[in-house]
Amino acid sequence: MKIVILLGPPGSGKGTQAKTIQEAHNIVQLSTGEMLRAEVAAQSVAGLRAKVIIEAGRFVSDDLIIAMVGKRIEAKDCSRGFILDGFPRTLQQTIALDDMLKSRNLAVSCVIEIVVDHHSMIKRIVGRYACTACNAGYHNEFQKPLKVGVCDICGGNSFFKRADDNEETVKARLVDYRVQTEPIIGYYEKLGVLKKVNGMCSIKTVTDLINEIIELKNGV
Ligand SMILES: [Zn+2]
Repeated sequence: MKIVILLGPPGSGKGTQAKTIQEAHNIVQLSTGEMLRAEVAAQSVAGLRAKVIIEAGRFVSDDLIIAMVGKRIEAKDCSRGFILDGFPRTLQQTIALDDMLKSRNLAVSCVIEIVVDHHSMIKRIVGRYACTACNAGYHNEFQKPLKVGVCDICGGNSFFKRADDNEETVKARLVDYRVQTEPIIGYYEKLGVLKKVNGMCSIKTVTDLINEIIELKNGV
């Protein structure tokens, strides 16, 4: 069973990579957010408990999330393995996840950290904008429209920027991520399962690097 954890800051392409891995290795991408919504919709015991907590504006406890993941991975579609991205987020969750896996005689196969250069990342995000009419994406440095101020796709001349695509917000997000993730990275490094991938390469190259790591873990 292949158990892969993807780590990377917002904007690192983690979600896109998780989807590609899921297809390439025939393993399931698990999202704790989706699981939670499914449990709530199914009105399971865990779902009903979670609903009360969420409605009270509190965070669902790690125990509840781990129990949900434990139950989810028993499903048939997880028999070849699964990928987690966006979870675990804290050291406590990391330890709890590890304990849960151990109790099932399972272990994380590899943890892949998509490493990005903060300066380039800020440039990448802060420069993006899109066409108001058709939502086509542009970048003021890397992907300009063919004719200045005119959308290549629909000919529109009005563009917008997402409010949180500004330098301060991006910087804060990257710092938050680093503070939050550092202990998790240290934990997996000690276990000897951590691999780093240069996230500043093209999406295709990052995919190839990740696939190579997962393949290597195949025979283990
Ligand atoms: Zn357009």
